[in-house]
Amino acid sequence: QKPVPSDIVISRSCVPKPIDCLAREIGLLSDEVELYGKTKAKVQLETVKRLQAQPDGKYVVVTGITPTPLGEGKSTTTIGLVQALGAHLKLNVFACVRQPSQGPTFGIKGGAAGGGYSQVIPMEEFNLHLTGDIHAITAANNLVAAAIDARMFHEATQSDKALYNRLVPLSGGQRKFSPVQISRLKRLGIEKTDPNTLTEEEITRFARLDIDPDSVTWQRVLDTNDRFLRKITIGQSPTEKGYTRTAQFDITVASEIMAVLALTSSLEDMRERLAKMVVATSRSGEPVTTEDLGVCGALTVLMRDAIKPNLMQTLEGTPVFVHAGPFANIAHGNSSILADKIALKLVGPEGFVVTEAGFGADIGMEKFFNIKCRYSGLRPHVVVLVATVRALKMHGGGPTVTAGLPLPKEYVEENLELLEKGCSNLRKQVENAKAFGVPVVVAVNAFKTDTDAELDLICRLAKEAGAFDAVHCFHWSEGGAGAVELGKAVQKAAEAPSNFRFLYDTELPIVDKIRIIAQKIYGADDIELLPEAQHKVELYTKQGFGNLPICMAKTHLSLSHDAERKGVPTGFILPIRDIRASVGAGFLYPLVGTMPTMPGLPTRPCFYDIDLDPVTGQVNGLF
Ligand code: ADP
Repeated sequence: QKPVPSDIVISRSCVPKPIDCLAREIGLLSDEVELYGKTKAKVQLETVKRLQAQPDGKYVVVTGITPTPLGEGKSTTTIGLVQALGAHLKLNVFACVRQPSQGPTFGIKGGAAGGGYSQVIPMEEFNLHLTGDIHAITAANNLVAAAIDARMFHEATQSDKALYNRLVPLSGGQRKFSPVQISRLKRLGIEKTDPNTLTEEEITRFARLDIDPDSVTWQRVLDTNDRFLRKITIGQSPTEKGYTRTAQFDITVASEIMAVLALTSSLEDMRERLAKMVVATSRSGEPVTTEDLGVCGALTVLMRDAIKPNLMQTLEGTPVFVHAGPFANIAHGNSSILADKIALKLVGPEGFVVTEAGFGADIGMEKFFNIKCRYSGLRPHVVVLVATVRALKMHGGGPTVTAGLPLPKEYVEENLELLEKGCSNLRKQVENAKAFGVPVVVAVNAFKTDTDAELDLICRLAKEAGAFDAVHCFHWSEGGAGAVELGKAVQKAAEAPSNFRFLYDTELPIVDKIRIIAQKIYGADDIELLPEAQHKVELYTKQGFGNLPICMAKTHLSLSHDAERKGVPTGFILPIRDIRASVGAGFLYPLVGTMPTMPGLPTRPCFYDIDLDPVTGQVNGLF
C-alpha cells in the first residue's frame, strides 16, 4: 500500500475545475449562480421553482455507529460515496454537507472536509470563511442580543409615555407604526393602526416588553473557541447606570439562527422563523420574541445571502453543497433542507443526493428523520451506517481512545473476539435505523491496520442484524474507486421497498415524546425529569410550544447519557436536567447532563501550525 499524503497535500495536488464550468455541467443557468471567486458559488433558491416539474433524485443519509472521540469517517464516506456514484458509476450526484465551525479548525479537531482521497476542495476555502454565512449568523445573532439589553435598559430608565413616543416617533407631524409594530399590536389583541387612539393601558402594554432579566435565554455568539467568555458580566460601564447582568457567549454554530438556516424552506419561511424566536419571558410569563423587539426584518436582511447554498466540488469533480452547520447536540446537526431540495431537483430521478447527519445514528439520524424530514417533507431511500473496526473494538471493551495519542495495540492488531463483542453497538444502531422503515447499508470504513477477517466479521454480523447489505470500503485511501461496491449496494437498496415512518407524533405530550426516544433509540428503562425540566414542561405547554418535535442534547459517545458506557448500555434511567425551546427553528431541546456550548482551546491548539506562505500565498498547516 502506498502511504496516503496529508489532507492538505492531497487537496492542493488537485486543480479544481472553475466553479462556473461545474455549475453549467450540472444544469444551472448562469443567472442562478453567484460566483465567489473561482472555486465557490452561491446558488439562487429560484432554481427549485424552475425545476418544479422534474422528479426528485434518490435521497441517502449517512450516519454512524456510536463513535470514538476521533470520528469514524462519516464525512469521508459521504464524499467517497458521491465520488463513487458520480465519477465511477456515472450517475448524477450531489453531496450536501455542513459548513464547519472555525472554532475547531483552530482548536483541537482541525477541518471537516472529509479526508484522504475523499475530500471537498479546496479544503482551506471550505474550512475557513467560505462565503461568510457563519459571519452573517454571528452578526444577526448579536444584533438580537444588543436589542434585548438596550430594550431592558430603555424600559428601566423611561416612563411609559416617553418610551411610546420614542418607539413611535413623530415624523412630519404624524406618528406611524412600522409593519412589525402592527404585527405586535395584533398579537396583543389591539386592532388599531392609528397611534393616536391607543388608551393608556394599551400604550403601556405595547411599549413595555417587561422582560424578566433572569429569563433571557438568548446569548451572544462568536465562532472562536474562547473559553473565557463562557460566563461574563455585561453592562459594567457607568453609561449603563448599574444595569449589569451575567451573560455568556456560545459558539456561533450553537445559535438558534444557525438551526433556522438549516431548517428553513424559503425566504418567507425564514422571515417567519426569525420573527418567532423566543428570547426571554416577560414578568407576567409571556414569551418575548424577536418580532416584539422589532428586529426580525433586519435579521432577514442580514441573512439574505446566507440562505443560498454554497456550491463546491469533490476531489473527483462532483458537485457539493456546503450549507449550514448547526451543533449536533443542542441543535439537530444536519445541513440545510434548501440545499437538499435544490440538489434533488438538479440530479433528476436517476440521480443521488447524499447528505450526512452529525454524530451517531441515535442522535444525528434520529434528528434527521424526526426533525429535518418532518419539516422538509422529503423521504430518504437509504441509510448508510458507517462502522469502523476501532470503534467496535472500543465497544467490545477495548481501552480508551484519546485524540492525539497513539492507538493502544488492541486497535492495530487483529482481535476478533473484542470486535465481535463490540458489534452489539452496530446491531442496535442498525435496528435504530430500521425503526424508521428505511433500508440500511453498512459501510465498513477500512483503516490500514484492519484485517480482512475483521472486515468480513462486521459485514456478516451487520447482515444478521438486518442490514440490507454491508460492504468494506477504501475511499479514504483510494478515492471513489474504493467505494464502488458501496455505491452499487446503495443503488440496489434505493430500489428496495421503503416504508418510512416517524418515531412519534408531535401532538403527544412533551414527556411522552422524550420517553419514546429514550426507550426506543437509547434503550433506557425510563426517563427522570429533574425539577427544572418539570417546570419547563409546564411552561412550554402553557405557552403553546408543546407540539414541537424534540431535539435531544445528549453525549454522542454512548447510547446512554454516560459517555463511559460503551456497547449497548441497559438498565439506566435517562435524567432530563432542563428543557429549552428554539421556537423559531422549531424544536424543544431537553438537556441530558451539561452541554458545553463554547469549546475551549487546548494548550497546543491547531493554530500553532497554521500560517500563510508569503511567496505563494498558500495556506499551510490545515488538516
Ligand atoms: P466523522 O465525519 O465521522 O466525524 P471524518 O470523516 O471527519 O469523521 O473522519 C475523521 C478523521 O479520520 C479525519 O481526519 C479523516 O481523514 C480520518 N479518516 C477517515 N477514514 C479514514 C480511514 N479509512 N483511514 C484513515 N483515516 C481516516
